[in-house]
Amino acid sequence: MKYALLDRGDQLSRALSEEFHTLAKARGFTVNESSPDIVVSIGGDGTLLQAYQRFKDQLANVSFVGIHTGHLGFYADWKKDELTELLDLMASSTPQKVQYPLLQVEISTSSGRTVYLALNEFTLKSVDGTLVAALHINDEPFEMFRGDGIVISTPTGSTGYNKSLGGAILHPSLEALQIAEIASINNRVYRTLGSSMILPKHHHCDIVPDPEKKLYIGIDHLVLQMSGVSSITCRVAESKITFARYRPYPFWNRVREAFIGGSM
Ligand code: NAD
Repeated sequence: MKYALLDRGDQLSRALSEEFHTLAKARGFTVNESSPDIVVSIGGDGTLLQAYQRFKDQLANVSFVGIHTGHLGFYADWKKDELTELLDLMASSTPQKVQYPLLQVEISTSSGRTVYLALNEFTLKSVDGTLVAALHINDEPFEMFRGDGIVISTPTGSTGYNKSLGGAILHPSLEALQIAEIASINNRVYRTLGSSMILPKHHHCDIVPDPEKKLYIGIDHLVLQMSGVSSITCRVAESKITFARYRPYPFWNRVREAFIGGSM
């Protein structure tokens, strides 16, 4: 098996990387940073997001495995003391391949169109104060948004920023995107829906900001500043991310572990 490994860079993650390489070599695995079968991330969800960004052009060929060094993560579900168990399973069994939807974000500016694929979410904020932008759904005007920003998440991203905004948690078998507001202004003059909306795969939404304004564009953990943005189109992407599951860990168990914990 060919694998690539990315760690968070702290002392513990680096030590675990060394241990992983030793255990993997003993089982005949080889490191291949350019065309791996498996991408292993050691750190937290943020490290897995970085690993995804690095290998997002090879999604059809790679599967991801996440090992966490702190609290259980959403994408990183192996504990630091389970490396031997994980490597033994990698050497002896065929994993279940679990696929999760991604979000396609097309940003149009005066200089052209750029397409991004987000694993968690797309975030839009204004650099100078209130974001003002028209929201269209399936090419029909829906509302004029005024407020701090808009977050459009994938199902697996629904437990991230979206959850802090009061959005719903979506099971990743649902091919959908979710639009959530960040502090919208609602009074007798300005009005938005107020609740988050879930769009199915065959729908899309367009955000039309003032092209004169500077914007913060967030794709997962990456933040860009852009100006001259004439429109942003979001839809469920055709491609998906694949995780290699060497043992079952149902999504709702993950949600309970992360947000509720304890026993009833
Ligand atoms: P970070 O270091 O600021 O960590 C943010 C936290 O979000 C971490 O605890 C991480 O484990 C958690 N997280 C990331 N993806 C998650 C997911 N899909 N489900 C549940 N929790 C998740 O930043 P990071 O580690 O680089 O992660 C970037 C992510 O942080 C963004 O994609 C966004 O989802 C999230 N975020 C959340 C808020 C908020 O809740 N107010 C604000 C900004 C970003």
